[in-house]
Amino acid sequence: MNTCQPKILISQDGFCIAQCQHCQRIGLTFRNLLIGFEQTEFLDLCQTVSRVNFDESSTVFPGGQLQLVINTGHPDIQFMLSRQEFTTFSSGLSQASRRIEMQQLLKIQSN
Ligand SMILES: [Zn+2]
Repeated sequence: MNTCQPKILISQDGFCIAQCQHCQRIGLTFRNLLIGFEQTEFLDLCQTVSRVNFDESSTVFPGGQLQLVINTGHPDIQFMLSRQEFTTFSSGLSQASRRIEMQQLLKIQSN
C-alpha cells in the first residue's frame, strides 16, 4: 500500500493546498481546518467559488460583519468568509486548479 505523497499546490500563511501524487486526493488547510477532497470534488469547488460574487451572495451576520457562506461539498461543512478571506480563498483555489490542469496536460503529453 502506498503512503500519500503530498505535493504542495499553494502555500500561504494559514492556507495550504496539497495533492497526493499517488491517489490524487487533495488536502486543503484553511486556518485550523483541514478538509480532504477527491480531485473532481475539489475542481467542482474551484468552479463554484470562481463564479461567486461576494456582494451578491454575502449576508450580514450577528456582529454586523458581511460573511459569505460556501458549501464545501461535504454535508454540514461550510466556510464562512469575510470579504478579505474570500479574496484570499478564491485566488488560492484558482491557482491550485490551474496547477492541477497543467499537471494533467503534462501527463497526457508524456503518455
Ligand atoms: Zn495518497
